[in-house]
Amino acid sequence: MRRIYLDNNATTPVLPDVFEAMRPYFAERFGNASSIHQHGQETRAAVENARESVAALLGASASEIVFTSGGTEGDNLATAGLTAPGVHVITSSIEHHAVLHACKHLENLACDVTFLRVDGRGLVNPDDVRRAVRRNTKLISIMMANNETGVVQPVEEIGKIAAEAGVLFHTDAVQAAGKVAIDVKRIGCRALTISGHKMHAPQGVGALYLRKGTKLEPLFHGGRHERSRRAGTENVPGIVALGKAAEVAKAGSDRGDDRKLAALRDKLERGILAQVEDAGVNGEGARRVPNTTNIHFDHIEAESLVIALDLKGLAVSTGSACSSGAIEPSHVLVAMGLPPDRARASIRFSLGKQTTEEEIDLALSLVPECVARLREISPRYTRAVSM
Ligand code: PLP
Repeated sequence: MRRIYLDNNATTPVLPDVFEAMRPYFAERFGNASSIHQHGQETRAAVENARESVAALLGASASEIVFTSGGTEGDNLATAGLTAPGVHVITSSIEHHAVLHACKHLENLACDVTFLRVDGRGLVNPDDVRRAVRRNTKLISIMMANNETGVVQPVEEIGKIAAEAGVLFHTDAVQAAGKVAIDVKRIGCRALTISGHKMHAPQGVGALYLRKGTKLEPLFHGGRHERSRRAGTENVPGIVALGKAAEVAKAGSDRGDDRKLAALRDKLERGILAQVEDAGVNGEGARRVPNTTNIHFDHIEAESLVIALDLKGLAVSTGSACSSGAIEPSHVLVAMGLPPDRARASIRFSLGKQTTEEEIDLALSLVPECVARLREISPRYTRAVSM
């Protein structure tokens, strides 16, 4: 059976060029990047090369890039490392759990955390951020793009508010990197998190941008790796892959590949809405990353639709990978004001660089058919149409 993968916000396949770039660093070039001998010099050079590439993607300097194990570590390093017990932190109610739970942990450390609400499109209001700032506010952490809806937050405006108030600003750009252009200077953030496996590098590697001169309390204590910001022997193959993925992402964005991706996503979205009634886009009306659409199919359970589509060869998801399988409706969709039933009837389709038009056409033939079949056996649908 032909399998179509439209769950790239959960993870992406490693691109062939990225895999080729990292391959020699498993066996042939295996040195510890901290060793003085040739083996170490070779891998040190590869790590510093990758640092340059990641910095170029973000508009940063190489010395401002700290390699990590991924998005969760970057988010935790920023939230814990830029705060101290007793301070006030501002975040939003639609963050990924890597920020949300890290902020809940700060509450255990006597920090006060404000979780800002969002509007029906999933947007944080910058005026709410301004109003939430207190004398002891130390950090604002608002994501750049949401993993479930793809909605892009007004991070530049929030960056200005943070700068005016003298507050540090971190943004989780895990779902933005490689999809939209990122310029840390324009955003005005002090810290920004990215993750390799959301941008066609492997799982288990990521980076934190940390503006020069920003004091950070490390999470790990050990050697002086990453200029004492992140102890632990570097994951050289992963870092090399992240560097290559950053180069591929930058070249793609310079070529305007994001417009092609948006056209494919829009074709999928419009095609579904034209064929399926009682369906709609969550986050409509807001700017979204080009690869994501989150659609509610009223009167059905999203989990059943995911399984039905998977049996037909189409991989999609009910939201963040971490919460799929849980019966709780998505905290993001609920925060946007969706009734719980509609949140439980929502599916995320996320495209990748490898997605083809033929795959979108196939998806368009499968989704309406599966939705119709599930509605036929759904008592909720039967009740709704007989009313
Ligand atoms: N932040 C966002 C917005 C994400 O979507 C994810 C993963 O889904 C993470 C953070 C965590 O990243 P990682 O899986 O690399 O730990």
